[in-house]
Amino acid sequence: MIELNVMLCKGCSYCIKFCPKKILELGTDRNKFGHFYPHLTDEAKCISCGICATICPEGAIELPEKEKEEQ
Ligand code: SF4
Ligand code: SF4
Repeated sequence: MIELNVMLCKGCSYCIKFCPKKILELGTDRNKFGHFYPHLTDEAKCISCGICATICPEGAIELPEKEKEEQ
């Protein structure tokens, strides 16, 4: 499962484009800077691959569970 820091998101949609499971999509809410941000459409399908976190130019996505596993 990913964690999104909504305030860092610029709504660029790169994470949506590159998610191999196609489970990210922009929602209808905006953050306080006016950017729409993504959410998971089906959490159970997330394979914690980390591609969204790697591709995000704003560093808005983290994978806390994966980090814990690696420690
Ligand atoms: S970790 Fe992988 S599967 Fe999960 S949302 Fe990100 S890109 Fe998609
Ligand atoms: S790649 Fe990052 S900044 Fe772009 S929409 Fe996804 S979370 Fe937001």
